[in-house]
Amino acid sequence: MSINLLDYDGYGLVALFAEFGEKPFRATQVLRWIHRFGQSDFDAMTDIAKGLREKLKATVVIQPPAIISDQISDDGTRKFLVDVGAGNAIETVFIPENDRGTLCISTQAGCALDCAFCSTGKQGFNRNLTVAEIIGQLWLANRALGHDPKGERIVSNVVLMGMGEPLANFDNVVTALRLMLDDHAYGLSRRRVTLSTSGIVPAIERLREACPVSLAISLHAPTDALRNQLVPINRKYPLSELLAACREYLKVAPRDFITFEYVMLDGINDSDDDARMLIALIHDVPCKFNLIPFNPFPNSDFRRSPAERIRRFAEILLSAGIVTTTRKTRGDDIDAACGQLAGQVKDKSRRHERRNKIIPLVEISS
Ligand code: SAH
Ligand code: SF4
Repeated sequence: MSINLLDYDGYGLVALFAEFGEKPFRATQVLRWIHRFGQSDFDAMTDIAKGLREKLKATVVIQPPAIISDQISDDGTRKFLVDVGAGNAIETVFIPENDRGTLCISTQAGCALDCAFCSTGKQGFNRNLTVAEIIGQLWLANRALGHDPKGERIVSNVVLMGMGEPLANFDNVVTALRLMLDDHAYGLSRRRVTLSTSGIVPAIERLREACPVSLAISLHAPTDALRNQLVPINRKYPLSELLAACREYLKVAPRDFITFEYVMLDGINDSDDDARMLIALIHDVPCKFNLIPFNPFPNSDFRRSPAERIRRFAEILLSAGIVTTTRKTRGDDIDAACGQLAGQVKDKSRRHERRNKIIPLVEISS
């Protein structure tokens, strides 16, 4: 397989160019062409000597994944279905708002963590995305969406909240994050890049060292007993450890709060008592809450909490002084809302086999 330059961040590209006998500034020039100007054609890189261009053409490629489909919702949300080979496809969603444009990107084909209410999780896991496939989603979206009249990119924020658990694909995600932050590439501030995790505690600790960006935690329950059911990774990393990791993370985080995401499931985690237990649970973690009305998908076992329940739940958190927002459900007419991303995943974890295992009846012969 040929070398794909989209797999490299600034450091990686300098090291690769050194192997070719090229100076670091050449690598930076190419990095800028690829990510800043969205160029994939070496011939268009006019300030690179022709000899080097020919050499690059003979040895490397700039190969983003292919877009299979591009749908626009009534509310302007736009969903790209992106081919990641071997019959797998992932989804990337652009959400326009008044003051920003947020791109929600995927990090894995499927997800192994199997949260009870998540469509991606229900499909099982195929594989980690490569750096090229992760950063390629931003590259493709910038190409499709372009700039506003002031010359600013339409995509101003990135959230790693699409398909997959970003911290389970740590190295590739960190390389992609570095590209997002690099001034020669996308130049996004750490505040404008948010990683959402279900709570892989050791990886939160590593992220703190490697590349701190804004952090969102999928909390979803006020007790270990309930969280063990909804977010099974909690059995390995319980709430006390997760919240301790959040407090440590805040020491280096670009924002002075953690965002807790909380999916509102009718009759499961949405009572007044649940809200009060949450307040006690997170009392020493500076945070904001983002309530996400559950988005149904075929064969999901849950119902969305009624609007009045969500309002009351938010009110209890607010009255304890916790900034609380309720996520608007966007793009649900094109199945692009949180937790509805399905793409196309060929499960390699044999989860379905395990689930559907039929215990053979022992035949009793007479
Ligand atoms: N794996 C990461 C990021 C992807 S999921 C994580 O779990 O944080 C992004 C957010 O959508 C998470 O908070 C997740 O719990 C939530 N989510 C998943 N399924 C959902 C559904 N059906 N309705 C609403 N939110 C959902
Ligand atoms: Fe994976 Fe996140 Fe879905 Fe859980 S909610 S199954 S961690 S993608």
